[in-house]
Amino acid sequence: MTAPLRRSEAIVVDVALGERAYDIVIGRDALTSLGARIAALRPGARTAIVTDRNVAKYWLEKTEAALHQAGIAACRIVVDEGEGSKTYAGLERVSEALIAARIERNDLVIALGGGVVGDLAGFAAAILRRGVDFIQVPTSLLAQVDSSVGGKTGINSPQGKNLLGAFHQPVLVIADTAVLDTLPPRQFRAGYAEVAKYGVLGDEAFFAWLEANHAEVFKGGAAREHAIATSCRAKAAIVARDERETGDRALLNLGHTFGHALEAATGFSDRLFHGEGVAVGMVLAAQFSAALGMIAESDAARVERHLAEVGLPTHLQDIAGFAQEGLADADALLALMAQDKKVRRGRLTFILLRAVGRAVIAADVAPAQVRDFLQAKLAARA
Ligand code: NAD
Ligand code: ZN
Repeated sequence: MTAPLRRSEAIVVDVALGERAYDIVIGRDALTSLGARIAALRPGARTAIVTDRNVAKYWLEKTEAALHQAGIAACRIVVDEGEGSKTYAGLERVSEALIAARIERNDLVIALGGGVVGDLAGFAAAILRRGVDFIQVPTSLLAQVDSSVGGKTGINSPQGKNLLGAFHQPVLVIADTAVLDTLPPRQFRAGYAEVAKYGVLGDEAFFAWLEANHAEVFKGGAAREHAIATSCRAKAAIVARDERETGDRALLNLGHTFGHALEAATGFSDRLFHGEGVAVGMVLAAQFSAALGMIAESDAARVERHLAEVGLPTHLQDIAGFAQEGLADADALLALMAQDKKVRRGRLTFILLRAVGRAVIAADVAPAQVRDFLQAKLAARA
């Protein structure tokens, strides 16, 4: 697979969901087209931009300018950055501000930010007046390749992450690759784990392309756009087949059963970003697949080598504070996995590999197999 060297025009990926279909527009400075696109899509609509303080600092004025240029009214709702805004209190703030701004059924909510803002603003839009349309303007790599596409929105409960939410598809996604220039490098790297995931789960040629071109993806330019577009196409295809996750959509959870347990064990803190948990989780899923004889050890090593090369953590032992806590305890990790929603009648669901580029859903994994595998992992590096 080769990427085009130069691309001046935006790439448009179609999410084929019948009457809920929408475009993902990907490109440097795609944000400047926001006003014109809204004017064409929803003439006369008013808008409310929901964003966080970090993103507002860099990109709010540019977004407002794009709207004003097209004569579109916009108000701003700025929340604190971070997962702490994806709460009942955050939802109340945003919802009340939307009502006060008189956003009505024909108007649009614009989510300008990472996955936190996208999930929060999308959910507020889903329940405001029983559903107002919204636009995603994802500003983190993770949001551009994952959370802004597919229509999952929601907030956290004190009892667990993402336990309250709705499927609410956006009417448009604008992924401006230039906004990633202000994203902290560690955040970019964490988002890259989800990019690599699409290769590992369904597209060996893309994974090989990433192995050869990852440095260019980190630098920006055409390679970055190609990686984002390929990721969005992969997610869009899976979502179009299985919008509500009754089957294939679960493949997107590759690395996430292990990853979520690690995130939970580290208290969903800055010690381990979501994408970093996915990186370690993906390596564990590959190694577990090898231990079960589904792939060769060399395939698992290939996945690990690439993620390590871009600077992602790949081992339990890479996680900050590993030694002090439950991370070194196979039973504690297993208990965290069993709390996750991917459990049925005592058996665990894992996404495993039949090859690099071919993931399968294994709905019937015995907890003892996982425990033995984790114990062996922990012993090998102790
Ligand atoms: P985030 O939204 O917290 O963004 C990460 C950090 O980067 C924040 O501090 C943010 O302010 C900052 N930031 C974002 N864009 C920036 C920019 N361009 N310049 C400078 N700083 C910027 O986190 P995230 O990693 O984007 O998303 C994680 C969230 O997404 C989690 O809540 C997760 O549950 C959710 N998620 C949802 C889905 C879905 O399908 N809906 C999928 C994956 C993840
Ligand atoms: Zn993820």
